[in-house]
Amino acid sequence: MADYDVGVIGGGPSGYAAAMRLWDFGKKVCLVERARLGGAGVHNGALSSKTMWELSRDYLNATRRDRGYTAADVRVNFAAVREAVQEATESKVQHMQRQIRELAHPRPDRTGSITLLRGSARFADAHTILVEDTETDESRRLTCDHFVVATGSRPRLLPNIVVDGEAILTSDHIESLSEFPRSLVILGAGVVGCEYATVFANYGQTKVYLVDRAERILPFEDLDVARLCSNNLERKGVTIHHRAHLVAMERVGDEVEYTIEHHTGGRETIRVEKALVSVGREPNTGGLDLAAAGVQVGPQGQIIAEDTRSSVPHIYAVGDVTLDIALVNIGEIEGRHAAQRICGETVVPLSYTNLSTIMFLDPEVAAIGLNEQEAQKQRRPYRVALYNYSLVNRAIAMRSTDGFVKLLVTDDEKMCILGMRALGVHASTTIEAVSLMMQYGRSARELAELLHPHPAVTEGLQDCVRMLMGTSIYKPSVFRSELRLSRVTYADDGAAVSS
Ligand SMILES: Cc1cc2nc3c(=O)[nH]c(=O)nc-3n(C[C@H](O)[C@H](O)[C@H](O)COP(=O)(O)OP(=O)(O)OC[C@H]3O[C@@H](n4cnc5c(N)ncnc54)[C@H](O)[C@@H]3O)c2cc1C
Repeated sequence: MADYDVGVIGGGPSGYAAAMRLWDFGKKVCLVERARLGGAGVHNGALSSKTMWELSRDYLNATRRDRGYTAADVRVNFAAVREAVQEATESKVQHMQRQIRELAHPRPDRTGSITLLRGSARFADAHTILVEDTETDESRRLTCDHFVVATGSRPRLLPNIVVDGEAILTSDHIESLSEFPRSLVILGAGVVGCEYATVFANYGQTKVYLVDRAERILPFEDLDVARLCSNNLERKGVTIHHRAHLVAMERVGDEVEYTIEHHTGGRETIRVEKALVSVGREPNTGGLDLAAAGVQVGPQGQIIAEDTRSSVPHIYAVGDVTLDIALVNIGEIEGRHAAQRICGETVVPLSYTNLSTIMFLDPEVAAIGLNEQEAQKQRRPYRVALYNYSLVNRAIAMRSTDGFVKLLVTDDEKMCILGMRALGVHASTTIEAVSLMMQYGRSARELAELLHPHPAVTEGLQDCVRMLMGTSIYKPSVFRSELRLSRVTYADDGAAVSS
């Protein structure tokens, strides 16, 4: 008999969620974590960076001059920010630990148990792992009937840039900064790079440069979304090097010197205090000895998984380690799904089509389903309505009218929701209702007559739907720059035609 029913390797959000779902089924689980419980979902990642973002928003609001007060002597120092972030992450870890302690032993009404083992796990064979305690050098050998590998990812490095953690950093080092850098270059204008650019620009203590290879930031989003975020960054003083190619980046004394080549051919060399390399993530599979278990990996070392199951039927892989979609909510859903499959619960394969995401920029950007460029790539006819926050009472009351809601529906009477983008205050709340409707394939029409509380930002979404039905309170023919209503079809040559 094996030591445990299931061995879960990695105590980030994916592994933790898997372990908790396995407990529901009465399984004896060992959860192995080599570093800090919570992984990048908590530390140097999702929760810590979002805490920093929220704090930077508070600071920004405190320094505004349009609220009827002028706050005097608003000072900020990075050490205090870091302390607040640590408090946030510690409180989360405490919750996680508390539950593990409570569930460590089977109860009269529940057979399940979770044992947390500290150490780094690697496979000895397909049913055995060795767990090495890095502090004591002790090694334990454990057998399990099933495994869930949830070892996450780490920042990707570039061969020609030496990340020293002092002057040249990755997201793993941001929280060890002792003070705000005077200047910071961020290499990579993906979501993480843009989020940190927003945080440091909000605090106004750091001159931020953003090196963007593409023509615009957020190339996967529609132009209107990217433009608003890009303009806001620039308005805060961020210099975005669009279509720039990094030629060199190196530490010079206590500073960093980087050279970029512009698309026009000219070169520019700039000196800054710190650099943040933010060019993606790579999977944590190196030390796992997956070959010993016969698990197949892809070209970047990621575990190849089909609906969370690896090439070895009793070994599952969830979260960032598969390099599909690196998000906490996806990792958790995958962890739970794998647990259900292990326990023989019939579950339909996971679907990733109606993903909701949120980017913490200025303003925050919530997204679900298709955007316009994706719909056009698929040659899908659609109707689109865009509603500016300047007409939404809640945003007016908050004096935060930057942003809009954009809804895409099928070009037919049913008007099924294809996707939505919400930019602005409470954007993440606005997306909730749409997410539910999309999940159940409902028509946008059903949102039109819901009784929303007032004032709520969701009222903008509601009038957006009414606009699609020709019954909105505010008329697109009057508010031409605030409201947009179009129908997009395709010409014979495939070109999108907007009417
Ligand atoms: C700066 C930043 C901001 C982000 N912001 C967001 C956000 O706003 N929203 C969002 O949804 N996502 C965000 N993410 C992504 C999110 O953090 C990850 O998708 C998520 O943490 C993945 O969870 P995971 O459990 O798969 O992996 P991880 O969180 O990386 O956890 C893996 C765990 O496994 C452990 N481990 C690794 N190898 C071994 C081993 N051999 N033995 C034992 N333990 C091992 C690690 O120590 C780690 O604790 C952000 C990421 C970063 C870096």
